Amino acid sequence: MTRFSGDSVVEKVLITEEAIAARVAELGSAIARDYAGQDLRLLTVLRGGLFFLADLARAIDSHLTLDFMAVSSFSAGTGGAVRITKDLDDSIEGAAVVVVEDIIDTGLTLNYVLSVLKGRGPASLEVCTLLDKDIRRIVDLPIAYRGFSVPDRFLVGYGLDLGGRLRNLPYIATVDEAALT
Ligand code: 5GP
Repeated sequence: MTRFSGDSVVEKVLITEEAIAARVAELGSAIARDYAGQDLRLLTVLRGGLFFLADLARAIDSHLTLDFMAVSSFSAGTGGAVRITKDLDDSIEGAAVVVVEDIIDTGLTLNYVLSVLKGRGPASLEVCTLLDKDIRRIVDLPIAYRGFSVPDRFLVGYGLDLGGRLRNLPYIATVDEAALT
């Protein structure tokens, strides 16, 4: 199942390309139905969410706009401090906002992002995450759309990286423990 020489650290494919595509299509249909006729804005946090966002946006059969932000999180040792390193380009006031995430782990990063966005007066604010590592959650977050619940393992592919690499694997996989040390 390996695809290029750089992915030799891949242990096991957890979610195949086909399974991702099928679930993304379902999520896209649900969002299109729920937001019919609204000023839908899909926001994602760079860089991991890009792949999911690109596929999800194409699975939503209605008008929408996109915007991006980037954050750096220092969850280890700083009590979950998060800083915005790239802000949105456009105002979200009055928009029906869906924050599109690749994975929610402790929830600290998204909790911060949501608190910032809430203060900017969107008409509504919901979350769509492809992966939910719910067993690790520290802060309780409302998640309107969820692709898959995943185990507490370090995952790569479809946007998720290992040291900046492997985001471009078309599937989601676990990695050899040795690669994490
Ligand atoms: P949280 O604040 O929810 O703990 O962290 C979320 C961020 O941690 C994700 O956006 C992602 O960047 C990173 N993350 C969490 N779990 C994984 C994982 O299994 N693999 C990778 N590559 N990144 C992860």
